Amino acid sequence: MAQLSDDCFAFGGPMLSVDEAVGIIAAKVTAVQEIESVPLVTADGRILARDVAAPLPLPPFTNSAVDGYAVHGSDLPRENEKMFPVKGRAAAGSAAQAGKPGEAVRIFTGAPMPEGTDTVFMQEDVRLDSNGDVVLPAGLKAGANVRPAGEDIPLGHVALKAGQRLRPQDVALAAAFGLTELDVVRRIRVAVFSTGDELTSPGTSRASAQLFDSNRFMLMAMLRRLGCAVSDLGILRDERGPLAAALKRVAGEHDLILTTGGVSTGEEDHVKAGVESVGRLVLWRMAIKPGRPVAMGIIKGTPFIGLPGNPVASFVTFVHVVRPIVLALSGATPVPILPMPVRAAFTYRKKSGRREYVRVTLRLAADGALEALKFPREGAGLLSSLVDTDGLVELPESVTTVEPGETVGFLGYANLM
Ligand code: AMP
Ligand code: MG
Repeated sequence: MAQLSDDCFAFGGPMLSVDEAVGIIAAKVTAVQEIESVPLVTADGRILARDVAAPLPLPPFTNSAVDGYAVHGSDLPRENEKMFPVKGRAAAGSAAQAGKPGEAVRIFTGAPMPEGTDTVFMQEDVRLDSNGDVVLPAGLKAGANVRPAGEDIPLGHVALKAGQRLRPQDVALAAAFGLTELDVVRRIRVAVFSTGDELTSPGTSRASAQLFDSNRFMLMAMLRRLGCAVSDLGILRDERGPLAAALKRVAGEHDLILTTGGVSTGEEDHVKAGVESVGRLVLWRMAIKPGRPVAMGIIKGTPFIGLPGNPVASFVTFVHVVRPIVLALSGATPVPILPMPVRAAFTYRKKSGRREYVRVTLRLAADGALEALKFPREGAGLLSSLVDTDGLVELPESVTTVEPGETVGFLGYANLM
C-alpha cells in the first residue's frame, strides 16, 4: 500500500510556498512497490520499474547508411577518380558477403557491410561506365556513409531508467532491443468524489438551482493521463455522516482519495469535518493564485486530498499538489516542468510572496516571437478560461508587475498532465 507519512501534518499552520509544498510531498510519499509486466503495445505512459540495459548493440551490425558502392578503405581514390569492377550485391536483410580488395560491392541502405569493406560511395556521387564498372571520385574519407554496430547504443548501456514515464520513443527502443514486455509499476488506484448539494451528474435531471458536475470529469481525465486507475464514485451530498462513511468505505481499496469542493471553512463545507471523523486532516494554505486551501489527510492509512470546488482553483491545485503526489506514489522520478520563455502581451499586477498563474493563449507575433495573451477575465469559476487558453504563465513570488514585452515563463497544459 502506498504511504503518505504522518508528519505531513506538521505543515498545516503557516502559508506554504509552492516549492515547500512540493518538497514536503517528495520527502513524505512512498511509492507503491508492486511491479507488473506489460506488453509493449500498452506500455506508453507507464512508469518503468527497472533499468533496461541494452541486450544487444544498436545497430546490431555495421551497415550502410546509403544506397551505393562499398569498398576497402585502402582502395580509396586519393587524387584521381578510380574504376572498380562491381562484384556482388548486398541488400537490406541479406547476410553479409565478403568484398575483395580492388572490387566494389553494390550495396543498399541497411545492408550489413561486406566483410573487409568499410566505406560506401553514395550512388549519386559515382558514374557507371559502359562495362558496368563503377567510377569512384577521389576525396571520400575511410568509414564514410557507414553506421557502425553500437554507434547508437553500445551493448550493456543503461538506455531506459527505472522511474521514467515511458514515451512512444522509449517503447520503440525496447522494441529495437527485441523485448516484448516491460516491467512497470502497477497503476495507482485513485477514488474520485465530487461534493456539493448543488451538483448533479450529466445524464440526470437538473433542478433549477443545480449545476452539472464538471470537476469530477476534469480530475478523472487528468488522473488517467497520469496513468492512474480511477474509480468514479459520483457526488457526495453536503452531509457529514454519509460523506465520512463513503470516504471510509473506499479507503484501503485505493492508494489515494481525491475530492473536490467543500473544503473552505464555511458552514456548508463538510469535507473537513467528515474526514476528521474518520481520519486525520490539515488544511494546506499555499501561497498561490488561483488556489484555495487544499485539505490533506489520511483515512485508514490511505492518503486523502480535498481540492477546492471552483474549477480553475481545482485545476491549478491539482497541478501543484495532486500531480506530484500521484507521480511520487507511482514511483516516477520527479522531473521539473520548465517554463518556456515567451513574451508577455499583457499588463499584470500582483502581490509579492505569492506565486500566480495567468491563463494565456499563445500567438506568433509578426517578428517571429511567441507572445502570451492573457484571458480577458479572471474568475476562478470560469471554465471557458481553461478551455479557450493554451496554458499558464507562471509568475514567481518575487514578481510584482508584468509589462508588455517582458519575458515570462509559459507552461503548456499538455506538459502538466
Ligand atoms: P465549494 O468549494 O464547495 O465551496 O465550491 C466552490 C464553487 O465551485 C461553487 O460555486 C460550486 O458550485 C463550484 N463547484 C464545486 N464543485 C464543483 C464541481 N464538481 N463541478 C463544478 N463546479 C463545482
Ligand atoms: Mg460545496
